[in-house]
Amino acid sequence: GSKNIGFVGLGNMGGHMASNLIKAGHKLHVFDISKPACDNLKAKGATVYTKTSELAKNSDFVITMLPNNDIVDASYEEMTADGVNKNTFFIDSSTIDPTLVKSLQKRISAKGARFIDAPVSGGVPGAEQATLTFMVGGTEAEYNTVKAVLECMGKRITHCGDYGMGQAAKLANNMMLAISMIGVSEAMNLAMRLGLNPNTFAEIINSSTGRCWASELYNPVPGVTPTAPANRDYAGGFSTDLITKDLGLASGVATSSNTPIPMGALAHQIYRNLKSKGLGNKDFSIVYDYMKNDKN
Ligand code: NAD
Repeated sequence: GSKNIGFVGLGNMGGHMASNLIKAGHKLHVFDISKPACDNLKAKGATVYTKTSELAKNSDFVITMLPNNDIVDASYEEMTADGVNKNTFFIDSSTIDPTLVKSLQKRISAKGARFIDAPVSGGVPGAEQATLTFMVGGTEAEYNTVKAVLECMGKRITHCGDYGMGQAAKLANNMMLAISMIGVSEAMNLAMRLGLNPNTFAEIINSSTGRCWASELYNPVPGVTPTAPANRDYAGGFSTDLITKDLGLASGVATSSNTPIPMGALAHQIYRNLKSKGLGNKDFSIVYDYMKNDKN
């Protein structure tokens, strides 16, 4: 049935996710520090709040979709400082450190409410089309409670294990995505420098062993995948800032678990370098452009 759902963080992802909850018939209670982001949801029928503690008290579920650890931490502090409605179920879908997930879960359950991690994959198109993959960390019972709500925004809702395991899956996946995007960029650039036509080479990869999401659906070379950010000067899509953040989180959890990630660590440095060149707001497939321009 129709639920009261709070949504905090109405950006590239959250704006579409909240809209899909409205389309599914839920009552939305929203907050973002950006007024245009709030106005957009208000026009679709959501109630806009100025205090997230009030938003949370009026909600059966609260979903947070915020940029990073510090902002998520501060937002939960503000939302729960003066007590919680024990029936409110908090779901964080941002990409953050699994350690922070565990500490938030302890803090919120100590106040009597529930909290789980449910980060997503599928990008802005997945958010828009409600085809996201949700990686849920929590108990089986909690997973079963949130599943119907998440299904309004995604098509695959997977229970990954205990608190933080959704983030563990997300960080490992995104580390691999960064490595494969750099790999596709390197290979496309090499093939083109050797004289191959990019479309011919992409066709070869995509019916060969090099095939992956970055080569097939998000090719970094302009003119290869019509819908990819490469065709609009790497605008929109998944930013270099965000992939760099995710690689930093992956490095942190790899260090704390004594896990070798030689390629992930290198990918992190490459993306940090792109960021320092002022390309943080460009789509992460811009790594191809960077290789193309490297002609020493
Ligand atoms: P975004 O920057 O577009 O949106 C973040 C929103 O949070 C903005 O509207 C901003 O105004 C708002 N915000 C910032 N501080 C706030 C605060 N204190 N209170 C309320 N609102 C605040 O980012 P996004 O692309 O929507 O990503 C959100 C999260 O989802 C990130 O953790 C990201 O890593 C993750 N993610 C992004 C993608 C993607 O393809 N963009 C895919 C999967 C996961």
